[in-house]
Amino acid sequence: MPLPIGHALAGLACAQVRPGFFFRSRWQDVFFFVFLANLPDADFLPGIILGQPNLYHHGIFHSMGAALAIAAAGGWFFYLKKQHFWSRAAAIFLVFSSHLLLDFFAWDFVAPYGMPLLWPFTNRYFIAAHPVFINIVRSGRSDDFFTSLFNGHNLTAAGREFIILGGTLLAVMTVRHLLKKEVH
Ligand SMILES: [Zn+2]
Repeated sequence: MPLPIGHALAGLACAQVRPGFFFRSRWQDVFFFVFLANLPDADFLPGIILGQPNLYHHGIFHSMGAALAIAAAGGWFFYLKKQHFWSRAAAIFLVFSSHLLLDFFAWDFVAPYGMPLLWPFTNRYFIAAHPVFINIVRSGRSDDFFTSLFNGHNLTAAGREFIILGGTLLAVMTVRHLLKKEVH
């Protein structure tokens, strides 16, 4: 699993494709993209409350089934705000799935490896044969879970995420800038 910083950069890259897609307020819109790109890791929360943060992590909330359910709920929310259901649902599905894509390409040394990506169609776990992102070392207990994230190994992982996903964000911004120039 990449860190929240990596997922946030992916969310920002998505936000650059269609700025103002969800909300007219620029900050609200960017916040929503970043929120969606991090949302699957909300599956840490029930485990944190129960004292074992990893208990439900990389379960069914990291799957296409969850992406479809969140897309349907989000699409309905925007439909009630007089926006187009299908386009909003599709965008929510894609940004939520950006998280699954990054996690798929990350090392995972805790069994079961990877995620049940195609749940509910199959319970099989999937992980890339050639991961790009470094695994995150973290405590299995709630009391030192957050402090355990601050270590040299995770700093290296964050650096790699920053270079790859920050580079992606810059590339998307550059393409957008060039396309804008062509239109004017
Ligand atoms: Zn995740």
